[in-house]
Amino acid sequence: MKDVRITTGNGDAVTVPAAAVENLKSSLRGALLLPGDEGYDKSRTVWNAMIDRRPALVAECAGVADVCSAVAFAREHKLLTAVKGGGHNIAGNAVCDDGLLIDLSGMRAVMVDPIARRAHVEPGATLGDFDCETQAFGLATPVGINSTTGIAGLTLGGGFGWLSRKYGMTVDNLTAADVVTADGRLLRASDKENADLFWAIRGGGGNFGIVTRFEFKLHPVGPELLSGLIVFSMKEAVSALKKYREYVKKLGEETSVWTVLRKAPPLPFLPPQVHGTDIIAFALCHSGNAEEGRKEIEPVRHFGTVLGEHVGVQPFRAWQAAFDPLLTPGARNYWKSHNFVDLSGEAINVAVKYASTIPSPQCEIFFGLIGGATTRPAPDATAYSHRNAIYVLNVHGRWESASEDSKCIEWSRAFFRESAPYATGGVYVNFLTDDESDRIKAAYGPGYERLVATKKKYDPENLFRMNQNIRPGA
Ligand SMILES: Cc1cc2nc3c(=O)[nH]c(=O)nc-3n(C[C@H](O)[C@H](O)[C@H](O)COP(=O)(O)OP(=O)(O)OC[C@H]3O[C@@H](n4cnc5c(N)ncnc54)[C@H](O)[C@@H]3O)c2cc1C
Repeated sequence: MKDVRITTGNGDAVTVPAAAVENLKSSLRGALLLPGDEGYDKSRTVWNAMIDRRPALVAECAGVADVCSAVAFAREHKLLTAVKGGGHNIAGNAVCDDGLLIDLSGMRAVMVDPIARRAHVEPGATLGDFDCETQAFGLATPVGINSTTGIAGLTLGGGFGWLSRKYGMTVDNLTAADVVTADGRLLRASDKENADLFWAIRGGGGNFGIVTRFEFKLHPVGPELLSGLIVFSMKEAVSALKKYREYVKKLGEETSVWTVLRKAPPLPFLPPQVHGTDIIAFALCHSGNAEEGRKEIEPVRHFGTVLGEHVGVQPFRAWQAAFDPLLTPGARNYWKSHNFVDLSGEAINVAVKYASTIPSPQCEIFFGLIGGATTRPAPDATAYSHRNAIYVLNVHGRWESASEDSKCIEWSRAFFRESAPYATGGVYVNFLTDDESDRIKAAYGPGYERLVATKKKYDPENLFRMNQNIRPGA
């Protein structure tokens, strides 16, 4: 082991003596990696290929003790510190240049208590890990729509998916968490213990410490349910979206229908002549009785002339992974997002205009539908505050080659600017890119000052700053 040059939180470079590095290494059950070591590149790689950062040290944590050791080391040397769960966050804050990366992705255990309907989840678990273990008992809680996403980052920002209209945001189903705070303590956060911390981690991101265990309540779901896709031509998108917004107003909470505008992927149920053309797809899922579900989704089939339909009863786990092939890691991605309470005619026109000029085949615009149970808690019940949001719009710029960066980024930004007048001004913190620090307050919403106070209490030196950062002094 040799001395390591490493960056501090305020950007200075310091030398950490070899003995201190050796000491950390020997205290860990997992590996301590330096550039060039086997596994280093895997640890530093995140979902969005636009992010290519090289930490000076990687602590691959195998358990809570490793997290405590890594946090103590970071605090002692005042290091720039990044925390990686599933590595999916678009902004890429899960990895830093020249600092310490605390990599939790090896801690993937999910333990289910089917009697109490509780899941205890380690912070490296993916949504696929979670669904695998919970669905074995016909149980689930609302999480996102791509099985390789990490449960940790998703939960800490709020979290929503197909089940949210019925069971709320992911944070509404979090019953407790274990958190290693900047001072090295392991705290239990729940309604009864450290309630201020519990409030803050339900939407305030990774600002307050490292969560080493999440405890979720679970609901009976599936294990098979009605789900699938109904596809129309983009030429019918304006009228389809107008019918959709009226349909949504009367929609039961067991049904969720999301909208995607993009170029048709070569899906086997679409005729070959449709592949690559501009389409609008309605992705739907009904978590209750399948026959009831068929009745409830029937209007969607009349939003226009169906180009292709693939709807049926299938395992919930399969539906939870259905979009994985379109969301593989390693592509370049740039997102823009905001929330809507309704889809005005103007908002629809702008969306269809930009969806008809997609700059690269994998770019898409989607409206994720929430509402129902997500709107019932008071805005200050959790740090996630956007309880008025019904649609979460995401302009999903996605492409393969750096040569396409500027046209795809400009397309995403232009659409965002033109649609902003019809949106709420609020934004889901987990969809912010790394150039949107001006939107952080809007993302945290009215609870921002309370989050600052909580940050001052639990992380006064801002050790955990590689996130959508709440500055303790702000
Ligand atoms: C393809 C794709 C699909 C998505 N779909 C959805 C969706 O359907 N619904 C939805 O709600 N979101 C969705 N998201 C957004 C997702 O919620 C965020 O990207 C989330 O941050 C991912 O969590 P992660 O653990 O994988 O991320 P990471 O990048 O590992 O972590 C994100 C941040 O969280 C913090 N963090 C991570 N782990 C911990 C921890 N244990 N303790 C403290 N802080 C921690 C760190 O600050 C880190 O920078 C999607 C993202 C992608 C890329």
